[in-house]
Amino acid sequence: MSISLRKHAAMFLAATFTVGSMATFGAAALDQPTAVLSSTLNHSVGTVLTSAEISNAQQAMAKAKASALKAQEEAAKKAKAEAAKKAAEETAKKEAEIKAAATKTAYNQLVASAATARPVAYSTTYLASDAIKANATALGNYKLTFYDPCVECNGNNLALTATGTTLTEGRTIAVDPSVIPLGSRVFIEGYGVFIAEDTGGAIKGNKIDIAVSTHERANELGVQYANVYLLK
Ligand SMILES: [Zn+2]
Repeated sequence: MSISLRKHAAMFLAATFTVGSMATFGAAALDQPTAVLSSTLNHSVGTVLTSAEISNAQQAMAKAKASALKAQEEAAKKAKAEAAKKAAEETAKKEAEIKAAATKTAYNQLVASAATARPVAYSTTYLASDAIKANATALGNYKLTFYDPCVECNGNNLALTATGTTLTEGRTIAVDPSVIPLGSRVFIEGYGVFIAEDTGGAIKGNKIDIAVSTHERANELGVQYANVYLLK
């Protein structure tokens, strides 16, 4: 009987040890095995174990082991999911950084490029890019009119702007300087990059007069509306 007792005592120790190691995996999993084991151990100290006690201890040990295993698996699963989420977040962050750098480069190139003489006409080539939207100052929707260096449009036919430059189609726009400072580089969606280098009596607030070469073309282009961005 004493050999059998030692054998069972060892079993209880093993069960207790298993339950003790459960602390790592959460209190909830411990409740039942601990209760069963405590009861069994209290009754068995210095006495002969009943078959029910042995059965309880065995069941408790089996439950504790199963719970520990399950908790371990769940912890591993959770850790794996967290690692995957973190990796995805890192990737997204890096991609966003690369995209931001690319749009910044594209924007800088646009700002540095010359606004030169070219025929003015609406084109989808000049829709606002992500680079512009991310970096320029959006001024809102503007009313666009068109003018040329004739007496009727300009008061004289000298083709001189308010800033002393030669009125040039594809570069010159007249603005309200209290809204868009003279010398600014302005992106007009659908029309491209211009330089604010002229003013006009009727050009107040969100209105821009775009210079073209002839009175006929000014009439043809009429009145338009477009989103305007201040580049610098
Ligand atoms: Zn004219």
